[in-house]
Amino acid sequence: MINNRNDQAKILIPATYRLLIVTILSSVIYTVLFNVYSTPFALHAFQPGIIALLHLILFAYLYKNPRKRISQVINAYGAILLLTSVPNTLYFTIGAWQSEWLFIEMFPPISGMIILTTTLIMLMLPEKLNKFVILTWTLNAVPVLLLLATHPEELQTPRGYDLLFLFGPASFLILLIIPYQRSVRSHLDKINVDLQHSRQEADRDFLTDVYNRRGLKSWLNDLAPNTSLSVLLIDIDHFKSVNDRFGHATGDHVLVEFASRLRTAYFEDCGLARWGGEEFIVVIVNPSADSMSSIGEKFRSTISQQPYKDIGKITASIGISQVNQAQHFIAMVEEADKAVYFAKANGRDQVVLYSDALAEEPSLSAE
Ligand code: GH3
Ligand code: MG
Ligand code: MG
Repeated sequence: MINNRNDQAKILIPATYRLLIVTILSSVIYTVLFNVYSTPFALHAFQPGIIALLHLILFAYLYKNPRKRISQVINAYGAILLLTSVPNTLYFTIGAWQSEWLFIEMFPPISGMIILTTTLIMLMLPEKLNKFVILTWTLNAVPVLLLLATHPEELQTPRGYDLLFLFGPASFLILLIIPYQRSVRSHLDKINVDLQHSRQEADRDFLTDVYNRRGLKSWLNDLAPNTSLSVLLIDIDHFKSVNDRFGHATGDHVLVEFASRLRTAYFEDCGLARWGGEEFIVVIVNPSADSMSSIGEKFRSTISQQPYKDIGKITASIGISQVNQAQHFIAMVEEADKAVYFAKANGRDQVVLYSDALAEEPSLSAE
């Protein structure tokens, strides 16, 4: 769920930046054009400039803390669009109804811009904004269409046809495209969710649902290379005889229960994986060297204190590496493996801490 929200923010924030840039650039162009080719309305000389400035402020505000401010910025963007486009259109249409003006001569050439902006907003921003965009479009388009429909002399001019087409069929074309675009997007979202699912499944052991080696590897990759770790290798004692006596299916059940007991033995930061067959690995993050022995004992008692259903007592031999940095993980596994080997050779059901002295132990070569 959290990932999904992150992904949405990843899409939403760049989309909003682009929308702001398009708005700023086009407003600047309008500022220049309206000052070079002035209209009868003094307002036009500076209104697009004000709009550009407002969006520049919004841009800077968003830039400071995009994740926190994104929804405020989107709301402000919508409010500015509504407040700056609608009164203009209403002013010109009502004026044209009431006075001697021709609407087509007075209305500034911004209808294309209104359609472009509303399209961009609908394509890029969340669906919940659609109602608001359609409202803005309606408040702009309906008075214009109404005026043109009732003033044939205005409609039958090139500008009249242009306005009719932009606010009429072109807008409807956009309404047709948007559901298509949305279904593409939701399809992509679904693929993304499925992909995340498959990744999670590929990282898990099918039988016990703890990490497999691959999952542990990617868990390790997320740690800083100098993170301090200690590795526990846990190998079930005489597991072959469990299979031989009770059957492979019961052996599988024991592995599942064994793994779930491992999950409950240690609640600090650690990674737990099935290393292979009846062997599990626990990687303790930021351990203190002194506590490793008691952590190992905690695992041993959690594993073996209570009998297993239909089987009885199960024990395991636990080897623990020295504390080292994450980048030396392989060496730590080798140490833990030697310690397990020592535990097996010395009667099983015990915790052995690897030490340099242990590397010299004669019993290591005994079995
Ligand atoms: P030791 O105390 O020396 O570790 O003896 P062990 O019998 O546990 O060790 P060994 O390596 O001889 O045998 C491991 C057994 O684990 C053999 C194999 O059939 C069994 N095993 C490995 N994976 C699975 C599994 O997924 N399900 C079942 N039921 N058994 C498995
Ligand atoms: Mg084994
Ligand atoms: Mg074993």
